[in-house]
Amino acid sequence: MHPLFVPALHICMASENNNYTLPIKQLPVGSHDFKYTLNREFFADLEQDEISDGIVNVVVNVAKSQRNITMNIAATGKVVVTCDRCLAPLTLDMEADDFFNVIFGEEYAEEGDNVVVVPEQDGEFDVSWLIYETILLSLPFNHTHEEGECNPEMEETLKRYTPNGEDEQESESDPRWDALKNMHK
Ligand SMILES: [Zn+2]
Repeated sequence: MHPLFVPALHICMASENNNYTLPIKQLPVGSHDFKYTLNREFFADLEQDEISDGIVNVVVNVAKSQRNITMNIAATGKVVVTCDRCLAPLTLDMEADDFFNVIFGEEYAEEGDNVVVVPEQDGEFDVSWLIYETILLSLPFNHTHEEGECNPEMEETLKRYTPNGEDEQESESDPRWDALKNMHK
């Protein structure tokens, strides 16, 4: 086999399965759906720290008229984040639906009021980061397991590094500390 053949084949397969570049300018007037199934590889490729894994079905709809271009990103599935309390992996159900106005400009930008600027010269842009942001914004601000479902070893280790004063104050209202107190009775 010619050595150049292998990388060429690889590139071809990758673009077929994961083509997140939307040819906005080339699209004819009308409604266009781009469907994706995101997995661990998608989140790893973005080199971010928030989401480590997941299975998310995404439909990006681009609606183009003579006057304007709008884009809807709808995502539903499960993502894995880090629990704020015990630092163990936490799986969250997620559902997101976000709407954008697409305009052409000098260079790629995201502006207020959900406006996406696509470089007019290229006429296309990679939607993967925008999909990621849409998913991230749909998640609750605090990521924690349900009460009692945190990793007990991790919680115990973290507790050892918590100053005593804070423990006493929290014990009034936090059922986790009440449970620990009861164990020592
Ligand atoms: Zn936890």
